[in-house]
Amino acid sequence: MKIGVLALQGAFAEHVSMLESLGAETFEIQKLSYLEQPFEGLIIPGGESTTISKLLRGLDLFAELQSRIAGGLPVMGTCAGLIILAKRVEGGKPCLATMDITAVRNAYGRQLGSFETTTTFAKVGNVPMTFIRAPCVRDPGAGVEVLSVVDGRIVAVREKNQLALAYHPELTGDVRIHQYFLDMVAES
Ligand code: GLN
Repeated sequence: MKIGVLALQGAFAEHVSMLESLGAETFEIQKLSYLEQPFEGLIIPGGESTTISKLLRGLDLFAELQSRIAGGLPVMGTCAGLIILAKRVEGGKPCLATMDITAVRNAYGRQLGSFETTTTFAKVGNVPMTFIRAPCVRDPGAGVEVLSVVDGRIVAVREKNQLALAYHPELTGDVRIHQYFLDMVAES
């Protein structure tokens, strides 16, 4: 199983090592031509959503990734990656807009936005979560499954082939969320 990790900016290296520790093959996506190889899943990492969004457009990756996700390519977006997937963005502009959610940018405030907690994740159990100037989810559409809630805020959602997390699962040392994503890829 081969997973492409968008590697324009942000925390992509940690996703690569976590996926490889689970036996997946990975490659970093920096250019449109890299998408010519066959692959079964995509990771959009955390970082700065405005920067990732500009780079996606500047490198002509935008339309290609948008149509592949709309066509069913399994994708996991974490933190800024969740914002990139959201159809509606509070405090910013939508980018790929493939997922029927509102992303609220910097939902915990800009300064006090970083913390760790452990919370229930549907069908996985209690998982550690690292939040860094994180968004949260509002107004999930009817087809969106809420997987995890922290202090009344939605932090993990799934809509068919799309998984979006407001936090950084790649920074915790717990591989179960990446395994959950690889299971989604295997099922698709
Ligand atoms: N605050 C960032 C944004 O709005 C997201 C932070 C992150 O990915 N850790 O893009």
